[in-house]
Amino acid sequence: MAGFVLLLGLLIRDVGRMLLLVMNIQLFKELCEATGAPGFEYGIRDLIIKTVTPLADSVTVDNIGNVIAVIKGKSSDKKIMCAAHMDEIGFIVRHIDDNGFIRILPLGGFDPKTLTAQRVTVHGTKDLPGCMGVKPIHVMAPEERTKMPAVTDFVVDLGMPKEEVEKYVSIGDSITRIGDLVEMGDCLNVKSIDNRGGCFLLIEAIRAIVEAGQKPDYDLYAVFSVQEEVGLRGAQVATIAIQPDFSFALDVTIAFDTPGSGAHDKCTVLGKGTAIKVYDGTLITDSRMVKFQQALCEENSIPYQLELLAAGGTDAGAMQKFSAGGSIAGAVSIPVRNVHQSIEMAHKTDVQASVDLLAACFTSLSRWDWTWERKVRTLAPKAEACEAKPAAKKRCCRKK
Ligand SMILES: [Zn+2]
Repeated sequence: MAGFVLLLGLLIRDVGRMLLLVMNIQLFKELCEATGAPGFEYGIRDLIIKTVTPLADSVTVDNIGNVIAVIKGKSSDKKIMCAAHMDEIGFIVRHIDDNGFIRILPLGGFDPKTLTAQRVTVHGTKDLPGCMGVKPIHVMAPEERTKMPAVTDFVVDLGMPKEEVEKYVSIGDSITRIGDLVEMGDCLNVKSIDNRGGCFLLIEAIRAIVEAGQKPDYDLYAVFSVQEEVGLRGAQVATIAIQPDFSFALDVTIAFDTPGSGAHDKCTVLGKGTAIKVYDGTLITDSRMVKFQQALCEENSIPYQLELLAAGGTDAGAMQKFSAGGSIAGAVSIPVRNVHQSIEMAHKTDVQASVDLLAACFTSLSRWDWTWERKVRTLAPKAEACEAKPAAKKRCCRKK
């Protein structure tokens, strides 16, 4: 009987997860397909404000453009900051030549070999489709064929003469990639999973808590930050304003699990679960936070993997050090193939596991021992369990 109940419970949970996935692919698609190069986060900001407002107690936009949604917690003794950057790598118009071709500068770190002949949108007084052009292979010298182009070698071709281009486009306008969502097996293939995937996690974790009638343990400042791709700028500003005690960054990480990768440089593998960050170029994750997240995954049967990213970083690097006295910082990452290329790929299981872990983090912080004492820690039992079972209450809820 117990086995049957357990089976039924798992079935209900898994069906629930499946429904959640089916219901939210549309939101994932809309977030990834929205536009917003660093410093030009207009399209994505509007979408996020519209989506998060019904779930939050307040939503504001600061001077640099971060969206900050506050969800009141069970206690206001401490602050949780969770940042998902909403900018995507893009370009800025540097020059329009006599034939109407646009010269560009990158906003963020591209892998230039993946840009050839990609479609982009130029955000002038109206959005215009363009195409990234470089010299065709037929007219390249032999040595040029093996040389990787630089981002600045590309021109954006709008298919229009200079006079027509200049009616709509000015120096300093932004450019973003085009890459609609396509489902491939259990994977999602689309531009800018970095980091609209992170924005999705934050929205869906808040939704999961709110719809379950729960609250985060402490006041939650959900920050959809700007200009991460050019140096964690929005998160830095928001951290100084919020001064969090606990902080989480939500972002993507490398899944170099394709043919040719060595066992040690895969970083993560698609479909093996959410990634708990241990290390990256900007952060040594607070070791108490790593253990806390692992304990939550074990408790809730959430598949996870540990992430050590040799180079690159996330907003957690800013949040850890720009709060007075520092914050206890960690990160939840979505494993992604082809990061910072024209199209990225994530697995639905990993996305859902990340939502589940994040929601558990927000509602379980007070169950962990955050002292620096060196010892093995376990999660304190859930308060609900204490209330439901008088015997358990006696054990776990007694005042010391
Ligand atoms: Zn990112």
